[in-house]
Amino acid sequence: AASNVIVRDGGIVGVVVRLGPSFGKVSTEGLRVTAGAAALDARVSVAAANAGIAGMEFFSGVPGTIGGALRMNAGCYGRETKDVLVEAHALNRQGKRVTLKNADFHFTYRHTEAPEDLIFVEAVFEGVQDDPAAITERIEALKARRETTQPIREKTGGSTFANPDPPGTPNQRSSWKLIDEAGMRGAKRGGAQVSELHCNFLLNLGDATAADIEGLGEDVRAAVKAKSGVELRWEIKRIGRVPVNATEEGYLAKDA
Ligand SMILES: Cc1cc2nc3c(=O)[nH]c(=O)nc-3n(C[C@H](O)[C@H](O)[C@H](O)COP(=O)(O)OP(=O)(O)OC[C@H]3O[C@@H](n4cnc5c(N)ncnc54)[C@H](O)[C@@H]3O)c2cc1C
Repeated sequence: AASNVIVRDGGIVGVVVRLGPSFGKVSTEGLRVTAGAAALDARVSVAAANAGIAGMEFFSGVPGTIGGALRMNAGCYGRETKDVLVEAHALNRQGKRVTLKNADFHFTYRHTEAPEDLIFVEAVFEGVQDDPAAITERIEALKARRETTQPIREKTGGSTFANPDPPGTPNQRSSWKLIDEAGMRGAKRGGAQVSELHCNFLLNLGDATAADIEGLGEDVRAAVKAKSGVELRWEIKRIGRVPVNATEEGYLAKDA
């Protein structure tokens, strides 16, 4: 769904694979949900709820597809893909179908070690039994919470930087707090701005270039490093080429 990527202004030199509708099917059996990699995460949470399968409510808050969830270990409010994944099927560069069990992913916070060249095509998730109405209620509560705390109706890529500490760490440091303390709430570069509502979100005010957004992100990283010594890690994936005639201004990414 490209909800976690910035494509640089020079575009992508190569082929972009987009999975079609036949990869978007979702079905349930017992406590398991099988979903094509093009299925939206939200559809998986609704299908699970309707079948009385709990544990996948968090998917309702992630605006991506199952393919992106597998690559990113997507999650929110204390739950993530690794908590419910049984196995995933993928194609490798030779066109061979491979199966990865949960442990093969070596999931960590918003990160997996699955080989970069795999194209995920399907995933199997497992939850626990619960009343469909109770599950749906939790999904609605999650959505309401998100509406009030995140600028989800703006043009944004969601959380820009991974939190420095994984969930559950005592006194966990969160990126938004470090950004706020560094005085970057509301900061601008070109058509890009750090959200006033949630300062780990960068906004496109209308005419931002990819360079504006990536450059603003680097401004934020530099300010946080100077203030607290923490080097924030980009959660958003930056891909593609810097335009041939671009100046270096705005393209200071250090870990691209
Ligand atoms: C408003 C907003 C809120 C967000 N909130 C959250 C949140 O709460 N929690 C969270 O975890 N994320 C959040 N995100 C980020 C994003 O939605 C997730 O990372 C999501 O999992 C990305 O899915 P996607 O389909 O959009 O992947 P893309 O952005 O298209 O791709 C992300 C990466 O996954 C790879 N990829 C995608 N599909 C496949 C596939 N089939 N096979 C192999 N690789 C693949 C891509 O190559 C790329 O490297 C948010 C984003 C926005 C815009």
